[in-house]
Amino acid sequence: MKKKSIRFKLTLWFCAALALVVGLTFAAVRIASSTVLRATIRDYLIGAVEENIDKIGYSAEPGEVEGDINIPYSGGALHIDSGFMDIMNDVFTALYTDDGTMLYGENPLAKKTSEISFSGTRLWNIKVDGERYDIYDRDLNIKLSDGQELWIRGIVPETRSTAQLGEITRLSLFLLPLLIIIAAAVGYIIVDRLLSPLGRIEAAAEEISKGDDLHKRIDEGDSSDEVGRLAGAFNRMFDRLENAFESERQFTSDASHELRTPTSVILAQTEYTLEKDRDVEEYKEALEVVGRQGRRMKMLIDDMLDYTRMDQDPGRYTMESLDLSKVVSETAEQLRPVPESPVKYIVDIEPDIAIDGNELLISRMVQNLISNALRYGGEDATVETRLFTEGGKPVITVRDDGPGIAPEEQEKIFDRFYRSDSSRSVQGTGLGLSMVKKIAQIHGAEVSLESEPGKGSCFRISF
Ligand code: ADP
Repeated sequence: MKKKSIRFKLTLWFCAALALVVGLTFAAVRIASSTVLRATIRDYLIGAVEENIDKIGYSAEPGEVEGDINIPYSGGALHIDSGFMDIMNDVFTALYTDDGTMLYGENPLAKKTSEISFSGTRLWNIKVDGERYDIYDRDLNIKLSDGQELWIRGIVPETRSTAQLGEITRLSLFLLPLLIIIAAAVGYIIVDRLLSPLGRIEAAAEEISKGDDLHKRIDEGDSSDEVGRLAGAFNRMFDRLENAFESERQFTSDASHELRTPTSVILAQTEYTLEKDRDVEEYKEALEVVGRQGRRMKMLIDDMLDYTRMDQDPGRYTMESLDLSKVVSETAEQLRPVPESPVKYIVDIEPDIAIDGNELLISRMVQNLISNALRYGGEDATVETRLFTEGGKPVITVRDDGPGIAPEEQEKIFDRFYRSDSSRSVQGTGLGLSMVKKIAQIHGAEVSLESEPGKGSCFRISF
């Protein structure tokens, strides 16, 4: 029922609008045709009377004209041509004298109108027994020998026009509802066709939300129309949801995997130690192992929390105008190795470079890069941190002359929890570079890497 309702409503609205338009048009046509019809009937009345004028003749002397109707009158004679039309399409025409005496012709109102005297050629209207008539009086300008004048009076009932209108109305009252019913049926079919893809979208969305198959997508059909675009928008939303879902699943699985190693070591160590009584040194050693693994777990959990916050809610980090030179320089100084260290530590910062960003995140990004260079660069590496502008845009580079990164690993190291086998001896979580990538993304910056095994690596952040 719900599925049908939008079709039903659309059809109903469409029919209501159509009925209104048709109704108004009908009313307008009826008013216009009634005026036109009345004018036409009056013209017809005048025409019929005027045509009869030259059919009338009068001679003061008695006599007959052959072929005419000859009526003797006050010593003379009226000659009426046989073509005189006394009744023609409801128009009655009759011949009169001034005093209202009907000499020839037809008049259904003869009795009622006889007292109405003639006062010049005129068109007028009268109501007799509840019915209206149009009357046209025409002076023939023929003087009779008794001093009277001749007139023709034409009469037509108004019902002649209303009868024709009634015909139109009856036809319309039958045709218009029929037209609306046909339009409703055609409208319903069109709406049904147009909306049928919505049914497909609903079914597909229902299937995706119920089932486990997140790969399923809606058939976009003709993607240029609104429904196709709606399906496209749904599909893009499903893509994002699938990615988010997949990434969360992957993260949970990777995180559990990473936490499993230190947990297993702690369990194995405690079980082994508790197998029998041991001396103080052995207990100390066991506790150190447990402590080391505990610290590793803490480091992992802290990094995971930080990464998740950046990934899921980047909006929590407020962006403000900050002195990038100051942030990079302070972070680099915090990590500067002790003076006795063989590491050659270079910090080269162009002053007064400003950006819109988050201080905490920028500092974290630089810290991760420098600490990687220090950890993986080797004991007597050269670690160089630079900030400069290139084409007006700030660029940060962190370079070391350590072992470098194999080409096939250069993309993977930015993946979460990825650590190259050669780095297993160095403590880490595998989340440092994923964070760098995420922070750069939040700041609209790009991360790139240039590295050659044996020659070192250079990480570059371009804003
Ligand atoms: P973590 O350092 O905690 O292992 P990262 O995401 O920071 O995690 O680094 C991922 C991997 O990339 C490291 O395990 C290491 O193998 C490699 N890597 C990162 N920086 C360097 C570097 N400067 N030199 C060589 N290898 C590096």
